[in-house]
Amino acid sequence: MNTIKDNPFKYSSDNKRYRTFNHYLRERFGKKVFKVSLNLGLSCPNRDGSKGVGGCIYCSEKLSGDFGGNPCDTLEEQFRTVRDAMEKKWPGGSYIPYFQAGTNTYADTEFLKRAYEKALSFENVVGLSVATRADCITEQTADLLQDISKRTYLVVELGLQTVHDKTAKLINRCHDYGEFLKGYKLLSDRGINVCIHLIDGLPGETKEMMLETAKSVASLRPHAVKLHLLHIIEGTALHRLYEKGGVRPLELSEYVDIVCSQLELFPAETVIERVTGDGAADTLVAPLWSLKKLCVMNEIDKEMGRRNSYQGRLFCGDMKSCE
Ligand code: SF4
Repeated sequence: MNTIKDNPFKYSSDNKRYRTFNHYLRERFGKKVFKVSLNLGLSCPNRDGSKGVGGCIYCSEKLSGDFGGNPCDTLEEQFRTVRDAMEKKWPGGSYIPYFQAGTNTYADTEFLKRAYEKALSFENVVGLSVATRADCITEQTADLLQDISKRTYLVVELGLQTVHDKTAKLINRCHDYGEFLKGYKLLSDRGINVCIHLIDGLPGETKEMMLETAKSVASLRPHAVKLHLLHIIEGTALHRLYEKGGVRPLELSEYVDIVCSQLELFPAETVIERVTGDGAADTLVAPLWSLKKLCVMNEIDKEMGRRNSYQGRLFCGDMKSCE
């Protein structure tokens, strides 16, 4: 039985056996903090032809920003719409604007600087999140981000998804693990917090491969990680592959088992921003069980309790010493 009393995990004040983002934010800011998705309307080098066309096979038309703002509105309007709704439910919260859709370092540095500073100027903002690709981090953008990170809680979110280049090719990621590491280093050498996104259930990947990805990422000791389940979204290249039988969506029990095994591998201090993704209900083709997000999270808690395990239990520093 997974109870608070017998939870051995130190970064928790409830039954969670991993370091949730909510717990981290409460520890750091002493209050409820909400992320507000903003949309700059930026494209992606994986769509506009500079690296590839068509994008990653799972990416929706909204460029992975299905819950983001409307780029036709100003940043202030996008922010206010969400903030006002939040204030009605949870008054007195603080906010972290989150540039989510598209590649949010893929523009002129002056333009980016203005956008980031604008977002930071909004009322009750305590930080900033910027989602991008590691191959879109240059010395110049890294310097700009470093300047911001010295003043506020900045997290740069990098999509990696897998460390396996064969899979990266199959999903049309258009960068390999080596390129990811270069971009990651530009940020980590400057002391910038990085959140690494991973996807479980990618075509052709076994549980062992997903655990190898987790081990490699753990050895980087990132500030945060987001674990996503592969969602098959209507109209994507992945959807077409699924219809031809080229990909099998994970079952709930498999996903829970994989996520718990990955959590055991990450360092205890790494913040786990997500243990599952949000699929837009109207366009999600499979797996439909993922729509019951709370249920998925509960199953993960139950499995960690059953194993009497916790985040970091199997973390052993760098990968070599684990072998
Ligand atoms: S890098 Fe991100 S925005 Fe670009 S195609 Fe892939 S998922 Fe979509």
